[in-house]
Order: sequence, then structure tokens, then C-alpha cells
Amino acid sequence: MTKRVVLIGHPVAHSLSGAMQQAAFEKVGIDARYELWDRAPIALPDAIEEVRGDDFLGANVTIPHKERVVPLIDKLTEEAQATGAVNTLTREGRRLVGHNTDVPGFVVALDKLVGRQKMPRAAVVLGAGGGSRAVVYGLIRASFQRVIVFNRHLHRAEAMVRHFGRSAAHMELRAMPWHESIIESELAKTKVLVNATSTGLTGDETPVPAEILTPELFVLDLIYAKTRLLRDAAAAGATTADGELMLLHQGAAAFTLWTGQPAPLDVMAAALKQARAGGVTSAEGEGGVAVADTSGGAGADA
Ligand code: NDP
Repeated sequence: MTKRVVLIGHPVAHSLSGAMQQAAFEKVGIDARYELWDRAPIALPDAIEEVRGDDFLGANVTIPHKERVVPLIDKLTEEAQATGAVNTLTREGRRLVGHNTDVPGFVVALDKLVGRQKMPRAAVVLGAGGGSRAVVYGLIRASFQRVIVFNRHLHRAEAMVRHFGRSAAHMELRAMPWHESIIESELAKTKVLVNATSTGLTGDETPVPAEILTPELFVLDLIYAKTRLLRDAAAAGATTADGELMLLHQGAAAFTLWTGQPAPLDVMAAALKQARAGGVTSAEGEGGVAVADTSGGAGADA
């Protein structure tokens, strides 16, 4: 029987995950099909019930369901519990286990960008949504000592900081109001800047002005495209990466959870590149604007 894995989101029209996972199943010789399920929030409980069936290896969960799915499943891993968000489901009989593979995906991407040996201990994070939770928890786990979170709506960043309270007790984790001058002064004290907002996903906008970016910075944008932020940062002499490595490694971790096999990373990376060349810029299927490649390489594969 052909096994099934589904991506449950809203929308999921053009999925990078689909291309990457299907290529991996084929490479490893697993008879499985990766399906896209566009389900509005009201249809989520029924979708989750269906995934309990024997024909499913598991599922991916994406925007806007990563947090909403938590009370619908039976068991959470430590990362899912800590972030309060689930992006991967596995089955134990009819019981569902929730994982958050965005956390290890982010940590691998950061390691590749910066180099584990010279990992700084302070970071500025823009955004306070689901992606940001995985980033901040990844930074906590990577022993960062100071993480400052800026968000358009400050209360959301404050709520996130409170949420992490105990896991961040050993370090300084703070929410600050979104003012350019404050971001600039925090950037001067750090080497790592992570954009976990969706600014730049559907248009050529940037969350921060080019003038405050410096050559010392490592800039990671979770968006899978050469955003204006990354182009500005590269022009300032900073080291940059887009969200592709994080997407690849969260997908690789999910593949291993479903199949018990090591993920064929090269094949998955090639499938991702091909899907991106076709203009897909979001795992969630939003048709983002394909940003012109003006800098000769994303700088992602550090
Ligand atoms: P959420 O919807 O949970 O959060 C969106 C974030 O973007 C919030 O912080 C929101 O701020 C901010 N934002 C949205 N519009 C604006 C704006 N105009 N100005 C300033 N801030 C804005 O989304 P996610 O956290 O899940 O995703 C965020 C981005 O990260 C997306 O582009 C997504 O594709 C990417 N991502 C990539 C992953 C990867 O594997 N590479 C994994 C997860 C996400 P506010 O709270 O004030 O509304």
C-alpha cells in the first residue's frame, strides 16, 4: 500500500516541501506520496483525525496551524512543548506525536552560516511569530547569552519572552519596541541578525534600513529568497543566508522521523533548488514575488 504524508496548511498551493519530500521518498525507494491539504482552521480537527489512519506515515503542519494543532495531538517532544508549535506529526498506532523540526533546522542553518567554532553569543531577532519561536528556542539551546526580539506589535514579542521564561532563565532574553534607533544600537552590540518577519516575502520590502547594516554581521533571513534585506546586507559586506538551509534541514529531520532512514540531503537540496528556480518562494504556498538575483548567489550555502 502506498503510504501517505500530508502537508496541512492554508494555503498550500505551491509547496517547496512537496518537491523536496517526494524526491527523497523516490531516492530512498519508499512507496509514499506527499500530498497537499489546504484546510481552513475549522477543518483542522477532522484533518488531524484522518492522519491517525494506518496509511499515514505522518504529516507536516504549516501556517496558520502550527500552534492551533497542539491541543489536537497526544504527545509533544521537548522542542514542540517549549516552542508551543508543531510542524511535524508522527504516528504511534493511532496516537499522534508533535515535533518541531524548525528548531534543529534553524540551528543547522546558523552553524553553516557562522561556523560553530566562532559562534557569537548575542543575537537580534526580528519578528515574534511561529518561525521566531523556533529561532529563539534554537538560540537558547545554542547557549546564546543575549537575545533581543523586536516585533511590530511589541506585546507579541513580550508574550514570547514570557513564554520562554524558565528555559531562558540563565540568559538575557528581552523584547524591545520597534524603533530604528534602538535596533541600530542593538545591532552594534551583536553579530547575528535573524529576520523572522514575513516582510520581504511578497514584495521587495525590507524590515530595516540598509544604513544600519555592518560588515561584521551574519544575517539570516528565514524567507527562501534573495530578499532586499539580504541584498542590502551583502552590499554592506555582511555574511548572509536565506531560509533554504533551514527549510532543507527541518525537512530532513521530518523525513527521518517518518521513515527511520537518513535523509538524502543532496537530492532534497536539488529538488528545492529546482522548485525555487520555478519561482516558488514559500513553503506555505503563498506566491511570493520572485526577487531578482542581482548578487550572484544567495550566499546561503556557507
Ligand atoms: P507568523 O505569521 O507567525 O509571523 C509573522 C511575523 O512577521 C510577525 O512577527 C509579524 O509581526 C511580522 N510581520 C508581518 N508583516 C509585517 C510588516 N509589514 N512589518 C513588520 N512585521 C511584520 O509567520 P511565521 O513566523 O511562521 O513566518 C515568518 C516568516 O518566516 C515567513 O516568511 C515564513 O515563510 C518564514 N519561515 C521560514 C522557515 C524556514 O524553514 N526557512 C520556517 C518558518 C517560517 P506582528 O506580530 O506585529 O504582526
